[in-house]
Amino acid sequence: MLKVAALPADDKNCGWYHTSPKRQVKAKHVGNSHARWVIIGAGYTGLAAARQLAVRYPDDEVVLVEAQEVGFGTAGRNAGFAIDLPHDIGAEDYIGDIEIAKTTLKLNLLGQSILHSLVQEHGIDCHMRASGKYQAAVETRGIAVLEAYQRGLDKLGQPYEVISGQDLPNHIGTSFYKRGLFTPGTMLLQPSALVKGLADSLPSNVTLYENTPIIEVEYGEKVILKHESGQITADKLILANNAFGQRFGFLKHTMLPVFLYASLSRPLTEQEQADLGGKSFWGVIPSDPFGSTVRRTHDNRILMRNSFSFNPNQQPKQHCLDKFVHRHKKSFERRFPMLPKVDFEYTWSGSLALSQNHKGFFGQLAPNVYGALCCNGLGITRGTVTGTLLADWISGERNELIDFLLSSSGPNRVPPEPFLSIGVNATLWWGQMKAGLES
Ligand SMILES: Cc1cc2nc3c(=O)[nH]c(=O)nc-3n(C[C@H](O)[C@H](O)[C@H](O)COP(=O)(O)OP(=O)(O)OC[C@H]3O[C@@H](n4cnc5c(N)ncnc54)[C@H](O)[C@@H]3O)c2cc1C
Repeated sequence: MLKVAALPADDKNCGWYHTSPKRQVKAKHVGNSHARWVIIGAGYTGLAAARQLAVRYPDDEVVLVEAQEVGFGTAGRNAGFAIDLPHDIGAEDYIGDIEIAKTTLKLNLLGQSILHSLVQEHGIDCHMRASGKYQAAVETRGIAVLEAYQRGLDKLGQPYEVISGQDLPNHIGTSFYKRGLFTPGTMLLQPSALVKGLADSLPSNVTLYENTPIIEVEYGEKVILKHESGQITADKLILANNAFGQRFGFLKHTMLPVFLYASLSRPLTEQEQADLGGKSFWGVIPSDPFGSTVRRTHDNRILMRNSFSFNPNQQPKQHCLDKFVHRHKKSFERRFPMLPKVDFEYTWSGSLALSQNHKGFFGQLAPNVYGALCCNGLGITRGTVTGTLLADWISGERNELIDFLLSSSGPNRVPPEPFLSIGVNATLWWGQMKAGLES
């Protein structure tokens, strides 16, 4: 048996989790059981794969196993941008190869429309709104990035609006930025509320077990998955647990567990809302990937997300939380001098799986084992669509999008330790220094 050497153990103060509707958590798995299909990980990818497998195989039980509570892990900790456009941070214009970009756009739009339909159909209370997003710049270098992105959007034939620094306060209140690029297709949402709602609206032939970390695995004709109170034997296993997939023996030395940090303010008073001005609901992403993502939420809080750390053991680091909350505060003060008395109520971290070549894995990992892994930071739409298409492919379907995903070379190998940590830490440090006022 292979021991799963690291388990998710997220920190406790995620604002989205605490401010989303409470729900009845599903029971842990206890004892021994068998299922034809078992999926590990109830984030966007696993929830989508479970739903689609259940539709494809209505007479089978589909088992979905989650180590923590749904909505508590990374899927509930992100900034809530369900982005339609390709977002290739490796390309100068964020678009890159035009053929890849066109297919990526189709994938993202499909992921978005799946989520939107589910939210409508099941009345999921997650404040999903087609509000678009602003990409904003403060420094000359950031403005050059926006100009390059504009050229990329022209190449892809996608609409946008350039907003001058003077006009930006009418949109987002603050006059901090020098220029913005508004693209209308992004949906903003409350991520923890979304995944909780998705979990509670799964088809009746999906059985979800929460708080059931899988601690050992044995591969063979059947896959045996052990946890602290028993085991589940699967005919087919689907790994949808992002960077933790490496701990199941696959894609080793490819996915980089990088943690991101976010803080959520208390709700603004009516006076503070008036002092801020602008629209009542918006989201800004930075022109520099190391800059700050900022949102005004449905309940008039401000979300601030910046800072990264490399956590090879995949566990949160308290000293980083303690340090980065100060950076969040400084970034807030720079943008919102009109809100001097607004404190953060919540600060948290969440783990990403990044690959050096920005590619994810989709397909078969071993006999009876499949996976959709390595979100590369944009898993709301991407995880939803890859989970759905993985289930379609397993059940025999082929189409342009599935072929595109299968043709990917997947995440590439990274150098061994200690070179890896030295390299990643230096890149993160330099990126965060270089971001300057964008952070
Ligand atoms: C601060 C922050 C901001 C972000 N902002 C955005 C954004 O605005 N838009 C966007 O699209 N993405 C964003 N992301 C990234 C996004 O959250 C991820 O891409 C997404 O959650 C990946 O989905 P997933 O289902 O593939 O994996 P995950 O959401 O990581 O789900 C995997 C699940 O597997 C479970 N698991 C792992 N190991 C085991 C085990 N041994 N046994 C059982 N269960 C296990 C975990 O507990 C976890 O719940 C952000 C992330 C962070 C941290």
